[in-house]
Amino acid sequence: MRIVLTGAAGFLGSHLSERFLDEGHTVVGVDNFITGSRDNIALLQEREGFEFHLHDVSTPLFLSGPVDGILHFASPASPVDYLEYPIQTLKVGSLGTHNMLGLAREKGARFLLASTSEVYGDPAIHPQPETYWGNVNPVGPRGVYDEAKRFAEAMTSAYRSHHGLDTRIVRIFNTYGPRMRPGDGRVVSNFIVQALRGESLTLYGDGSQTRSFCYVSDLVEGIYRLFHSDCPGPVNLGNPVEFTVRELAEEILRQVVPTEAESDLKSGVENASRLRRLPLPEDDPKVRQPDITLARRELGWEPVVDLHEGLTRTIPWFRKQVNESDARARPLT
Ligand code: NAD
Ligand code: UDP
Repeated sequence: MRIVLTGAAGFLGSHLSERFLDEGHTVVGVDNFITGSRDNIALLQEREGFEFHLHDVSTPLFLSGPVDGILHFASPASPVDYLEYPIQTLKVGSLGTHNMLGLAREKGARFLLASTSEVYGDPAIHPQPETYWGNVNPVGPRGVYDEAKRFAEAMTSAYRSHHGLDTRIVRIFNTYGPRMRPGDGRVVSNFIVQALRGESLTLYGDGSQTRSFCYVSDLVEGIYRLFHSDCPGPVNLGNPVEFTVRELAEEILRQVVPTEAESDLKSGVENASRLRRLPLPEDDPKVRQPDITLARRELGWEPVVDLHEGLTRTIPWFRKQVNESDARARPLT
């Protein structure tokens, strides 16, 4: 198959591109590098079957030749990123999705939309099944991302019902792993980088809010299966094991600075010197946990990498990034 993958320079897009290449498909990566990394594209360009187009998908994209599938992953994804680029986020979710749906229709290609657990907002139902309509503040700071993705889902559904396009929608829950940008502001990257640098971990609020963290290889497997299935979705993909943000901080400290962490954390959240309390951002969801009954049934999919193992695989990658950036910052003597 010839696959177009928007957002190929990003965290998930680069892993997914690799997966499709590994399976013998060709991949056309498209990205404008707004939050992506040129290093990820350089890695992919070493592979046979990969080509790259530097392009903002919020403007129409014309490609020659056949296209069998389009996976639309382009969008700032971290709260820090989408708050820095609110208009671009709204545009890539709306205009970008429309453009990629148009390309899929023109080429007769299957279209898969990367949606998000954020469509559930600050959920009133827990865990969240796909049938839940969500609790989103359209005019709050996170509205630029949440509403863009909700519009993208509506647009994808309309192309399916009105134009008969072959579509899939995946609602992705918090995913982590190598190739996250160290400065992307998400909790896993922040905590690991802070722990490696010997800084205090920035705990927003009291750390009792929850998230369910999925390791990237599990997510990629789920998306690959969904793309090849007959299930239009939306389908939740995420690890259903829920942690408080404080528990995540503790696990990361235990892995990065094991001896220090135990005694320090015993002193409690207010006193632990390795934790620094900061205000909870506006509209920060209090809980989040996927109900993955549908993915289990339709895709035979289940995450296999737990948080401990996933962090063990992720921390060395961040250590390398931190060491390289520290080495660059050191003046030559
Ligand atoms: P990322 O920021 O690493 O990757 C996004 C990529 O999209 C970047 O390379 C960026 O440059 C590119 N991009 C953004 N706007 C673009 C535009 N207009 N034209 C071309 N390229 C553009 O983020 P990620 O974590 O890899 O997320 C990828 C997708 O998955 C996003 O759509 C995001 O909403 C979705 N998602 C991710 C998570 C997660 O936990 N990582 C959770 C839910 C949903
Ligand atoms: N968070 C935190 N410290 C940080 C970054 C994030 O305590 O340095 C919290 C944030 O308030 C949220 C959770 O961690 O409750 C997950 O945040 P993230 O930005 O990773 O993604 P979200 O799930 O909110 O989209």
